[in-house]
Amino acid sequence: MRYAVLSDIHSNLEALEAVLAAAAQAHVQQYLCLGDIIGYGADPVPCLKRMRELPATMIAGNHDWACIGKVEMSWFTRYARTALEWTRERLSFGDLAFLRTLRAKHEDKLFTLVHGTLRAPEKFDYLIEIAQALETALMAKTPLCFVGHTHLPVVIEVDHHQGQVRRVLNDAEQLQHVALDLQQAKYVINPGSVGQPRDGDPRASFAILDTDGPWLEMHRVSYDVATTQRKMRDAGLPPMLADRLAVGH
Ligand code: ZN
Repeated sequence: MRYAVLSDIHSNLEALEAVLAAAAQAHVQQYLCLGDIIGYGADPVPCLKRMRELPATMIAGNHDWACIGKVEMSWFTRYARTALEWTRERLSFGDLAFLRTLRAKHEDKLFTLVHGTLRAPEKFDYLIEIAQALETALMAKTPLCFVGHTHLPVVIEVDHHQGQVRRVLNDAEQLQHVALDLQQAKYVINPGSVGQPRDGDPRASFAILDTDGPWLEMHRVSYDVATTQRKMRDAGLPPMLADRLAVGH
């Protein structure tokens, strides 16, 4: 089975369409979404619609839950809060009902999905330290644990017999193709962000998992950033949120 793993779409329809086209070209059969479909960008409703059309397993991010009152707005930066208030006014009752179906964690046979960390899925902590990755890997009941939230692509390989981190892969070349050792190792994997990359590369980021390989590949896809920025400015969203898309920060 071949999966596309998407996270942090953040209402960026141009980036989402580019990623879905690349995934289709790579013969992806199923989709995994790690949360934050909405927030920041100008196309929350089309992004929700597009994701709901896919054969996808999806969990909630902090922005998704903020729109239904499950995360405090005061938790967010001023810009994020402004965009969330703008977003909430545009959602239909159907959109809100869909967001209410999203859970903070999903567990399958092979993989676990969580937006932040497994220590406290509903708290949305940023998984930024090696120790947190090790803890999440060891807590997972599955060999693979996909996380989002930081918008930074990374693969952390853990030897689960020894309880030690074996490898941290976070540069583009290392992430192009990663052979997975599902017998001996566990993995914490962040596919980066579709709609608001923060690693200095403005292209949309996502991962492909092939369970027959088994392997994982990180992909970057160019999209029409100028159109996305124009829509955000026309919508009156904070200009800083549009500006940052050009530099991927
Ligand atoms: Zn996010």
